[in-house]
Amino acid sequence: MHVYIEFAWTRFLSPAQVLRVQPVFIGTGSSDPNATGSVFSTLIRKAAELWNRCGSVRCIKIISNTPIYLNKPAYKVLESEAEAISLLAEVNVADAVEVFVVDRMDFACSWGGGACFSSGTASAKIVTCDQQLSIPAPCPCPGYCPATCPPCPPCQTGAVNYYHLAHELGHALNLAHPPGPSGGLAASTPGSNMEPSGFCCDNPNVQSAKNCRNASNPLLYWGLGICSGTPDIMD
Ligand SMILES: [Zn+2]
Repeated sequence: MHVYIEFAWTRFLSPAQVLRVQPVFIGTGSSDPNATGSVFSTLIRKAAELWNRCGSVRCIKIISNTPIYLNKPAYKVLESEAEAISLLAEVNVADAVEVFVVDRMDFACSWGGGACFSSGTASAKIVTCDQQLSIPAPCPCPGYCPATCPPCPPCQTGAVNYYHLAHELGHALNLAHPPGPSGGLAASTPGSNMEPSGFCCDNPNVQSAKNCRNASNPLLYWGLGICSGTPDIMD
């Protein structure tokens, strides 16, 4: 009976291109109540869900390793871009996109609270923060409010950035902001998740066929996935 169930299950699986993510939290370990990373499980679930919508075009599956904990409390609040760069150098996992989660970034207005480095390459790394899901959200920088977003100030309610990590993984997958291509990154679809964002304004909960087709990274490897999703936009 057991064999039968497994056989039935595998009938739903198809060849999929898999992108592995390595979360890195700041703290002593999984039992540290003050460790960073509280947003990660929500953000990675939303990211996997958005990228799963590629299924009818091209099957892409996002999977996550168990977190690595870095016991260096100074990194909980990043004070400068240079400190963020230092943090990124702390962990290298050859077969995964590292996602570093800090408490907050005190300088990162123009990053929208997160950023991807070495986009589109096997060295791609993302830095983000637990403040992504705080309500009320932090106010954006003066003058920083993408055209796709509703007016941000006075920013009392705070949209939560559920699809922020999906967006940064889009950069890791070599996608530019729409329309692109730009800066060596491939074209993406206006109105899709690849629209820039920031606090008070989530990246759109919209996947596109073009984003799915243009995604690339040497870390993608062939595995199995459930490829049932359909992009919201063709194309
Ligand atoms: Zn971006």
